[in-house]
Amino acid sequence: MTYIIEATHKSLDKAMEKDALGTLRTMNELKSLIDTWAEKAVTIARREGASWAVIGDALNITKQAAHQRYAEPPVCSVCGGPVSSMSNSGDSIVRSYAYFGAEPVVTATCATCRAAS
Ligand SMILES: [Zn+2]
Repeated sequence: MTYIIEATHKSLDKAMEKDALGTLRTMNELKSLIDTWAEKAVTIARREGASWAVIGDALNITKQAAHQRYAEPPVCSVCGGPVSSMSNSGDSIVRSYAYFGAEPVVTATCATCRAAS
């Protein structure tokens, strides 16, 4: 994949000489596009079974940072509704581990379903 970086580098060098401000605007657009592409790539990698540790490695961040940035917010295991991680919400998020170092199994229950059970 380094050929993409090399080609981009050469193109940007040329573009900057012709239109520095236009190139800056384009680079700014690319930044947000890259964030969107990264989200898609993480989703696919997760679907293919990649751990947060491996994804964090690829992004040069910790597995915790990767999880915080890209993990889907938990949904209620009963009704499928959103579950808040705020401690005063009444919602419950329980993380259990099959073994040390394993990815947590997250069981989330919203306040309404907790009250009903
Ligand atoms: Zn619920």
